[in-house]
Formats: sequence, structure tokens, C-alpha cells
Amino acid sequence: MRRIIAVASGKGGTGKTTLVCNLSIALGLLGKKVCAVDADLTMANLTLYFRLEDTSKTLHDALMGEIEINEAIHTTRYEFVYLIPGALDWEHVAKADPRNFPEIIPKIKDDFDYVIIDCPAGLQMDALSVIFGGEEIVLVTNPDITSIGDAMKVGAILKKAGKKVLGFIFNRYESQKNGISPELTEDLMEFPLLGVIPEDSTVREATLEGVPVVIYNPKAKASQAIIELAQRFERGE
Ligand code: ADP
Ligand code: MG
Repeated sequence: MRRIIAVASGKGGTGKTTLVCNLSIALGLLGKKVCAVDADLTMANLTLYFRLEDTSKTLHDALMGEIEINEAIHTTRYEFVYLIPGALDWEHVAKADPRNFPEIIPKIKDDFDYVIIDCPAGLQMDALSVIFGGEEIVLVTNPDITSIGDAMKVGAILKKAGKKVLGFIFNRYESQKNGISPELTEDLMEFPLLGVIPEDSTVREATLEGVPVVIYNPKAKASQAIIELAQRFERGE
């Protein structure tokens, strides 16, 4: 099954880019052909996470109508994993029209098992345009009330707009703390809990080394959770 999955959140900094990068690689390790898309149009962090050397052709060029979207597909250092990078300079950011995103992204669907989109946070025009490019949406929240509240808002609006919200990922969970539990969050969210990723200092360590955590240490708690999530996607759960 070919899928276009947008990874979104209400609040910023919940772990979307970390998830998109590592989930793409985890699916690649299962032999799936994946295209990760750096569509956080003003903060193209995913491109940095992948440490691409050549970023001459970007999503922004395609949004500006200067190239076809498939010309912006780059190979990465991970087998079966491709990346459409975002531009890092302000000129491209200022000129690219996010409203073109939902029209151009389906053009690459048939070339991949998964297209996974790293979205901007929130519900501004750029975020909504990008989220609407996804056929399925995954929300990422942290175990704090503002993050959960914002994810609920985004989920409700997307549901109202007729979008298919698969559910949410509960990232940076610390079970030993008496915070909000995944189960309580599932009750609040009214969307299925797709996975719990624990707070794990290995994520930061890996980032400092410039290596995605599932490669840096596949046995780390966060890596295990992301690898399990990839397996669940593959089983269609
Ligand atoms: P977003 O793309 O939603 O803004 P990022 O993926 O950039 O969020 O992550 C924000 C910060 O949180 C980064 O410093 C990242 O290393 C850290 N982070 C993400 N997930 C985890 C985790 N499970 N454990 C520890 N740190 C994490
Ligand atoms: Mg990000």
C-alpha cells in the first residue's frame, strides 16, 4: 500500500523532525522505499538531520514552479531512504508558495511505499497547506497539558475538514514521573494512541554526533519504540 503520511503537531518542538527522520530510516531498514519530505518551510531542520551534501534542488524550488517535484528527490546515506530537502536561505523561503504543496506532493506517491512529511507546527497557512498534502495524519505530542491541548485543537480541526487522522504519538514520556499518562491522553484526544516514545538522552547524544538515533544506537529505548512503530505501520495496524 502506498501511503502519504503527514507528521504534525500543535505546539512546536514535540519531536516531529526526530520522528520523521528515524521512522523513515526504520522503514528503510524493513526494505521499504521511503521519501521523507522537509516541509517545515521556514525551519528546514530535517535536511540538517539527514546531513545532505547537495541541496541545490529543494521543495522550495518546486513550490516556486522552477522545477518538477521529482527533480528535488535526493538519495541519502541510508538504504531505501530518499529526501526532498527544504531550502535553508531566506530568499527561497520568502518566494515559495505553500499553497502549491497539496497539488505537487501526490506526483511522487507512486514511486515510494511511504512518503512521510515533516510539517510545520500549528495551524498557520503554511502548516495547514502542508498537512493537507498528507492523505493520513499523525500527531505528535509531549506529556504536558499545553502540548496535548494544542494537538487536540489541530486534530479537531483536521477531523472537521474531513482529513484522516490516524492518531497520535506520545513522545518524551517518562513513566517514573507522575505526569499525564498515555492512557489518559488517549481519552482526552479522542484519537488512537499509535505509540509511546520514551524520554531518552540517547536522542540528544545521537543528534550531537550527527547520526539518527535508530542508527546511532538501535537498542536505545527511543530507537526501539520507533522501530516498533515502523513495524506496526508495516502490519497496517
Ligand atoms: P519538532 O520537529 O517537533 O520541532 P524536534 O524533532 O526538532 O521537534 O525535537 C525537539 C527536541 O526534542 C530536539 O532537541 C530533540 O533531540 C528532542 N527530542 C525529541 N524526541 C526526544 C526523545 N524521545 N527523548 C529525548 N529528546 C527528544
Ligand atoms: Mg521540526
